[in-house]
Amino acid sequence: MTAELKKRVAILEGMLSIVGACIFSKDLEGRYTYVNQAVLDVFDLPEEEVLGKDDSHFFDLAQSREVIENDQMVMRTGKILQKEETNFVKAFNREITYQIIKKPLYDENNNLIGVCGIANDITEQRQLQSKVEDQNKLLDIVLDNVAAHIYMKDDSREFIYVNAKVSELFGLPVEQIIGAKEQDILPPEMAAHFHESDSELFVSGVKQTIEETVSDDDGNTRHYLSVKVPFEQHGRKSLIGFSTEVTELYQLKEQFRKQANTDYLTNLYNRRYFVETAEREFKRAERSNAPFALMSLDIDHFKKINDKHGHPIGDVVLQSFATSLSANLRDEDVLARIGGEEFAILLPNTPFEKAQMVAERIREYQASNPIKTEKGDILAKVSIGLVMKASDDINFETMFKRVDKALYQAKEQGRNRVVAHN
Ligand code: GH3
Ligand code: MG
Ligand code: MG
Repeated sequence: MTAELKKRVAILEGMLSIVGACIFSKDLEGRYTYVNQAVLDVFDLPEEEVLGKDDSHFFDLAQSREVIENDQMVMRTGKILQKEETNFVKAFNREITYQIIKKPLYDENNNLIGVCGIANDITEQRQLQSKVEDQNKLLDIVLDNVAAHIYMKDDSREFIYVNAKVSELFGLPVEQIIGAKEQDILPPEMAAHFHESDSELFVSGVKQTIEETVSDDDGNTRHYLSVKVPFEQHGRKSLIGFSTEVTELYQLKEQFRKQANTDYLTNLYNRRYFVETAEREFKRAERSNAPFALMSLDIDHFKKINDKHGHPIGDVVLQSFATSLSANLRDEDVLARIGGEEFAILLPNTPFEKAQMVAERIREYQASNPIKTEKGDILAKVSIGLVMKASDDINFETMFKRVDKALYQAKEQGRNRVVAHN
């Protein structure tokens, strides 16, 4: 070897000793002919105890079949081999996974003399990867089994993620949804609806909580509570949405709301709802200057009906009275049971003469149409007070007091009559 060549070999060896990867060559019998410092570090031995020895000294071959197989394959095929190789390293007393490149070695006469290779330790990387895979699996199980629709989208309107519930809702497999744009897989109105609220989120960058109403395939209205959270992924604006169906809860809420406004016996509105609505209508009438009538009705000698036929029959009379009142009114009139056998009616946009006619018709109907009960026909006559909203009524309460007075006068004047004040 010339001095020049020796110098170059020394430089190359110096370089090979500082790379982190294991670099080695072996002869046809698998004995090491060259190893760099990284190999010595793995085997935890000095060079003279490695060179000339085969892998049985360094790996537990019973648990490291691949190392020999790979070497032999390279020598048999003459081809470069690139793959992962897991070996049980005696010095570490554990398995190490390498990314290897192995290549056949030839002499100057082109005779096969062994194998050389580079091996990179990727054990930690593999462990991390399998940990991430395990966590992903766990996350998928959780996300696919919560009772919410969960999805991720970027600002190009493309789905990045959907859980099983979304796939069920769209009627498409998850793989067909991910990577697709919403306008390509959803009905136009639904896509437009999503686009609108998503755009708002991307602009504001603030978490949104909205109630959404969607009509399903059977035409039923379904209610969803949706939370959308903005976030950035790889510098790209994205969002994650959680949508929970709250139809039952919504219906229950509606039912409670209705119950709170309804009289249990007659199914008419109750006093609370009547007063609330009347106050609103009073203000509206004040703004529009439209005529606004209020009626108060009280069944005559109702106590006697109860006393004679019993309380349950009294109830039937109240129910029957409520039904015939409803039949005599317009949709915009508000009828309520405001006490035991007391009722009230709001008549918006109704002039005095018209309201008087309605009152008289009710009185007349009650006086001439007995109510059929299992204890026979019962005539439930009624006294009615009627007033119009006056310019000096400060609020609904003052009007309510006036109509009470009118009703009292109707009773005083002998009952079964209408006392109306314009
Ligand atoms: P007036 O002609 O002066 O109105 O006489 P009245 O007997 O109708 O009036 P009063 O206020 O003396 O009696 C009302 C009765 O209504 C007394 C009460 O027991 C009865 N009542 C109140 N609520 C109900 C109910 O829900 N069902 C039944 N069956 N009776 C009720
Ligand atoms: Mg009465
Ligand atoms: Mg009464």
